[in-house]
Amino acid sequence: MTEITRKNGYVYLIGAGPGDPGLITVRGRQCLELADVVLYDYLANDRLLAHARPEAELIYAGKVGGAHNREQAQINELLVSLALGGKVVARLKGGDPFVFGRGGEECEELVAAGIPFEIVPGVTAGIGAAAYAGIPLTHRNVTTSVAFVTGHEHPDKDTSEIDWDRLSLGSGTVVFYMGVKNLPQITANLMAHGRGPETPVALVRWGTRPEQQVLTGTLADIAESARKVGFKAPAITVVGEVVRLREKLRWFDNRPLFGKGMLVTRAADQAGEYSTMLEDLGASVWECPTIRIVPPEDPAGLDRAIGELHAFAWVVFTSYNAVQAFFTRLYELGRDSRALGPCRVCAVGPRTAAALAPYGIRADLVPASYKAEGVVAAFAELNPARERILYPKADRARDVIPAGLAALGAEVVAPVAYCNILPDAVPAGVIRALEERRIQCATFTSSSTVDNLARLLGENRFLHLLEGVAIAAIGPITAKTCRELGLDVSIEPEEYTLAAMTREIVRYFNVTS
Ligand code: SAH
Repeated sequence: MTEITRKNGYVYLIGAGPGDPGLITVRGRQCLELADVVLYDYLANDRLLAHARPEAELIYAGKVGGAHNREQAQINELLVSLALGGKVVARLKGGDPFVFGRGGEECEELVAAGIPFEIVPGVTAGIGAAAYAGIPLTHRNVTTSVAFVTGHEHPDKDTSEIDWDRLSLGSGTVVFYMGVKNLPQITANLMAHGRGPETPVALVRWGTRPEQQVLTGTLADIAESARKVGFKAPAITVVGEVVRLREKLRWFDNRPLFGKGMLVTRAADQAGEYSTMLEDLGASVWECPTIRIVPPEDPAGLDRAIGELHAFAWVVFTSYNAVQAFFTRLYELGRDSRALGPCRVCAVGPRTAAALAPYGIRADLVPASYKAEGVVAAFAELNPARERILYPKADRARDVIPAGLAALGAEVVAPVAYCNILPDAVPAGVIRALEERRIQCATFTSSSTVDNLARLLGENRFLHLLEGVAIAAIGPITAKTCRELGLDVSIEPEEYTLAAMTREIVRYFNVTS
């Protein structure tokens, strides 16, 4: 369907998938991006809201009304009135909207009100959570059918609408939604109607999320095990021989950092890449930007250097930020990479070198050791005496490079290209996660990240909140700053890269857990 201007109101009923924000469909995401209003549920991962337009109104449907039924009636009413008011509404529901999602009821209301709509299916929890638990719902020679059943209905034999006889006979997989509370009755019913007590069962809570919990057992014992460990909703219950395959096919909740909370303190525009690296290993990541990168108040020094770029033999970049700041200003001044002419380029490490690539620049020199001292050591071999070297730097950069290169006889020009400033505050979600001890490791990728976190929290609170949290520092300077602030550093890679630090984090947790 094309996105003609939807002047008269329109509703997209979108399946958000089971939790992993990557499991929304392409169409679902497109529709979210179009909406004026997003009405979202408890089970829809709120990280998906990032796809909405910044000016879109976000309404948490869980808060509308009180009791369950009234709540649904109010949601229906709200949907209709928003659409009649001319809004494009994205109704974002967990899993699939038509699988135990009351999407059918909402559509009936839309039809009655004459409001046009589109249904975007989603990955339902039964399928998503089972997949992330390593349980194929059907398997050759094991089972040929699967049933999705509500476990919400009070399974009183006389009034139950569930055909327990048919569900219990044969070998079909049965997936119960909303069944945690009624687990004792559900398992008893299945056994009473003929399923063997040894039939394997898995409960999967918050499936596909970093918090996923799986409890396995048999029809005979799972209810008691769940009671003992206090297993809670939301979870699906998978009953059938296929559950045994998890032992062999488990892939998600056995990744090296699964269940570990990680704090990423990098600047907002750089955090994402590192967060993804950690999330791919199974970690839950909290981003707490401790640095905001802004242009210098007075760019005159940088402008002057850019104006006479041809007179420099080298430009030295010691960070991704330096590259971005330099080229942003170069473009603002109406120039482009050709202004570098024959000037050679040094990048402190592979990431900085990679940041140059989009500007068509390949680094001529990447020192063996990825830090300021490594830059000086690399230049020492090139004999830069009397060469002019441009070093666009951060406002609070150490003096190692200018002093080191000057000692080699070079003429160094080091204008401030960008400033690291303190963000306004630590996000409330991060504070809560630290207080609740859900973060096991804090990562620091520069001295300023540590310094700034301490400044943002105040030193006492900083030490209190980080008590018992493993501290990872990317290199010796960062580690030193951590120690000066009273932290014990447990993770310090030999090579100063994110990849190496991540490897050390994995090693640390594999040893300590
Ligand atoms: N429309 C949704 C289901 C809503 S009913 C879907 O298609 O998935 C709510 C029930 O869904 C919960 O009680 C639980 O049984 C299940 N559920 C939803 N998300 C889940 C998740 N991430 N992990 C396990 N179960 C989930």
